[in-house]
Amino acid sequence: MDYPERFDVIVIGGGHAGTEAALAAARMGSATLLLTHNIETLGQMSCNPAIGGIGKSHLVKEVDALGGAMALATDKGGIQFRVLNARKGPAVRATRAQADRVLYKAAIRETLENQPNLAIFQQAVDDLIVEGDTVKGVVTNIGLKFRSRTVVLTAGTFLGGKIHIGLDNHSGGRAGDQPSIALAHRLRELPFRVDRLKTGTPPRIDAKTVDFSGLEQQWGDSPAPVMSYLGNRDMHPEQVCCWITHTNERSHEIIRGGLDRSPMYTGVIEGIGPRYCPSIEDKVHRFADKISHQVFIEPEGLNTHELYPNGISTSLPFDVQLELVRSIKGFENAHMTRPGYAIEYDFFEPRDLKSSLETKFIHGLFFAGQINGTTGYEEAAAQGLLAGANAALLAQEREAWCPRRDEAYIGVLVDDLITMGTKEPYRMFTSRAEYRLLLREDNADQRLTEKGRELGLVDDQRWQVFCEKQEAITRERQRLASTWVQAGSAAAETLSAKIDKPLSHEYNLLELMKRPELGYADVAAVIENGETIDPAVAEQLEISVKYAGYIERQKDEIERLRRHENTALPVDFDYSVIEGLSNEIKQKLSDTRPQTLAQASRIPGVTPAAVSLLLITLKKRG
Ligand code: FAD
Repeated sequence: MDYPERFDVIVIGGGHAGTEAALAAARMGSATLLLTHNIETLGQMSCNPAIGGIGKSHLVKEVDALGGAMALATDKGGIQFRVLNARKGPAVRATRAQADRVLYKAAIRETLENQPNLAIFQQAVDDLIVEGDTVKGVVTNIGLKFRSRTVVLTAGTFLGGKIHIGLDNHSGGRAGDQPSIALAHRLRELPFRVDRLKTGTPPRIDAKTVDFSGLEQQWGDSPAPVMSYLGNRDMHPEQVCCWITHTNERSHEIIRGGLDRSPMYTGVIEGIGPRYCPSIEDKVHRFADKISHQVFIEPEGLNTHELYPNGISTSLPFDVQLELVRSIKGFENAHMTRPGYAIEYDFFEPRDLKSSLETKFIHGLFFAGQINGTTGYEEAAAQGLLAGANAALLAQEREAWCPRRDEAYIGVLVDDLITMGTKEPYRMFTSRAEYRLLLREDNADQRLTEKGRELGLVDDQRWQVFCEKQEAITRERQRLASTWVQAGSAAAETLSAKIDKPLSHEYNLLELMKRPELGYADVAAVIENGETIDPAVAEQLEISVKYAGYIERQKDEIERLRRHENTALPVDFDYSVIEGLSNEIKQKLSDTRPQTLAQASRIPGVTPAAVSLLLITLKKRG
């Protein structure tokens, strides 16, 4: 049967990519349908109950600055918040929150259910309707046909999903969920390059059976940071403690003894796993001389006794898992509530995508999230928002929005994927961005909210909060610039004591704040009857003044490179006939089919000389 209504955008999958994609498209006014296996699992965290971390919170805040749901849901569901790298420079500071799974999921579902233009339907999608080279809709497993102008696929770990515990394996999308087999087969018939990746999760532990007495406690920061630009501490539920324990030599012996029944070490698993989230058997095997590994014990929520032992992800057989767990301090009598497991799944070569996340082969079809070779909720959410927004733009016959590497971590993420592809699950780090000082987590709103408003992603409430903050920054800058400190005055004495030398002449406070010894709080303190300023406003002002030189230099460099960013390379460019290019470079260019000269220059192995040759060839073509 054909469903009576037609949609602008259909999103397949209600994970982190799918929910942000659906919300973004609907916020932009497109008639949107979110189709997912199970409404109860909307926004479900498949693995660790935590959001953010280094590089990842940058993405979360960008999603938030563009009106997305992840950061606010974290503020409503977060049971422990911390700022990582707090003592380092602002570019690498990051916020991480431990979340209550149930509260987080509820916050996402509430947002989805209250979003105008968005319909949700629980059903597995088995097929895509493709006519010529254009997608026209989807078919569900009971034969329902939904028609649409665009489709965003965000099937996560579900395509051809295979779960491994020891040498036993079975099909599954994640523990307790059906896989997507029919859709995986259908996608393999289309011209996409498909490969396999794997990821894993630890067993869960019943807190009632843990002896916490000898374990190190770890509390969150006080006052707790917030994740969303619209968030505040009053939204946070009760805050709880985490603990730290360690594996030991006996744990490692148990693991080594079980390797002959490990799916990873017996070749049963073919897919490559996440480098930065290795399984405990991988850590013990690779770092054989380490006698202990840290295990962070994180509560799964406020109303459950389940614990997530972060650091012992494993796919060893159940009996080995149990022995391993019970060898760890505090877990001597632990009861496991769920076994750990690994999952293998299909992912698509991301070089087959445009920078809008539309596929190169099927017009109107977008891919986002884990299926593009990434790992992590934050990476998925960021891609979801971008794909959803671009699907809506395409349906509205507007130009795609593709953030550049100097504008957003979302731009870095997508450009890395579509330029270099990936052979292992890709996760974000601040080190992946060359313009780190510009792409801070504290200024994601300054970088993106205006663009979000223009696209239709940012609602009136967020826009008003943003405009008020901008005005406050400008006002405070002016106030500091027009407040003068005379040499010899009481204010000058106070400040001289901090910089350890007298002020020789008159200065305004903005100039004084450039000095390394003086922060915003120091200079603001000398203003008589000064008003109290929002800490976020003070932070923006302080960073922009202190790092002005570096920031300007990065902006100059970006300007120089922008020319190449605007030089388009035709999709049908025949690299094989360009004289002077090595066969290796021809092959790399043909595999990636870069959209711009700048993207071509970022492909590893493509030399500056090759870029010049490309430019000359382009000019000759006219
Ligand atoms: P998912 O969150 O997987 O969501 C996919 C959604 O699509 C689901 O709602 C599903 O029901 C739906 N769906 C799929 N197929 C269909 C269909 N045909 N029709 C309708 N609906 C469909 N990340 C880390 O960063 N670190 C880790 O250590 C880590 N470990 C993991 C361990 C396991 C066992 C798993 C399963 C995942 C792990 N992840 C880890 C990855 C993390 O869960 C994902 O990166 C993230 O959830 C990806 O979001 P997504 O939206 O792309 O997909």
